[in-house]
Amino acid sequence: MSKVHNFSAGPCILPQEVLKQASDAVINFNNLNLSLIEISHRSKDFIAVMDKAQALVKELLNVPDGYSILFLQGGASLGFLEVPYNYMKIGGKAAYVNTGVWASKALKEAKGFGEVIEVASSKDKNFNYIPKNYQIPIDADYLHITTNNTIFGTQFKNIPISRIPLIADMSSDIFSKQVNVSQFDMIYAGAQKNMGPAGTTLYIVKDSSLGKTGRNIPTMLDLATHIKGESMFNTPPVFSIYVSMLTLQWLKDNGGVSWIEGINQQKADLLYNEIDNNPMFVGTANKVDRSNMNSTFILNNESLKDEFDKMWKAAGISGIVGHRDVGGYRASMYNALPIESVQALVDVMKEFAVKFG
Ligand SMILES: *Cc1c(COP(=O)(O)O)cnc(C)c1O
Repeated sequence: MSKVHNFSAGPCILPQEVLKQASDAVINFNNLNLSLIEISHRSKDFIAVMDKAQALVKELLNVPDGYSILFLQGGASLGFLEVPYNYMKIGGKAAYVNTGVWASKALKEAKGFGEVIEVASSKDKNFNYIPKNYQIPIDADYLHITTNNTIFGTQFKNIPISRIPLIADMSSDIFSKQVNVSQFDMIYAGAQKNMGPAGTTLYIVKDSSLGKTGRNIPTMLDLATHIKGESMFNTPPVFSIYVSMLTLQWLKDNGGVSWIEGINQQKADLLYNEIDNNPMFVGTANKVDRSNMNSTFILNNESLKDEFDKMWKAAGISGIVGHRDVGGYRASMYNALPIESVQALVDVMKEFAVKFG
């Protein structure tokens, strides 16, 4: 099997050794002669998986005491709804920074609950930058941000200082760099961008932030239900949690978040340097806001598209076609993508310039 350089935006590349361990566990888990996916989630073997996954999140992100770590279902898209249900008071209001498609969807869900203030938006320039210097209303119940904008290739390099509770969708950059969890009342992230297979969503919840809305929250949408049930109020997505645990263990064994942050910076520098210096390409995101996870770029000369596409496909590169809202190309460089894959893309870009420049 020849090597494929997998730049998929999500679901995305996972470490090869994790895939191997996961496939073994599907056949024979812990030498039980049973599959991971055919045993009770309340068995001691699976409870150990859940405990370990939560402990790894806590350790890797330095989560302070007073926070609960949950692995739930529904994707980050259900998180968009859980946020106002659990955090917007009756008659209250919420503040959102609108930095892209996902941020807009989060904002839309809150609209049914009360007043929603869009404190800043980068829609005027097709979301190619992160707004700065905006007012955060101190009487809003929370401020919601999307730390990495998967589609547009922008990323908050500085987390806004907020006097009101801060909530973040970190789906596409969680575990890619260090964060100060104590700045947030709640963080949520779908697994499939940087942590594991689709099927579970990580929530990191400050316990004292809940129970303030006066709302009747449907049982399954009430984060308190899942804190009390230790992520096992109902059957959890066992496979996705198991593979996420393996990926977090892989991250820890290799040096943790500070280690991967350095590698991710090297990968991003390598690719952005080529985009900036190669006359055939133009980066679409504002330089200071460029994402280290998803790099978006277009061709200077669209008529050479077929030629470039042929070249990267021949080099074993996969998954760099841009999102339909931006066009062009998007190279996603999540944790498990080796720097050699970025080098392979850069080599093709250089070769393309030599041939057609
Ligand atoms: C992919 C993505 C989502 C949507 O996640 P689902 O798990 O598919 O609901 C939300 N936010 C961001 C930033 C994403 O990248």
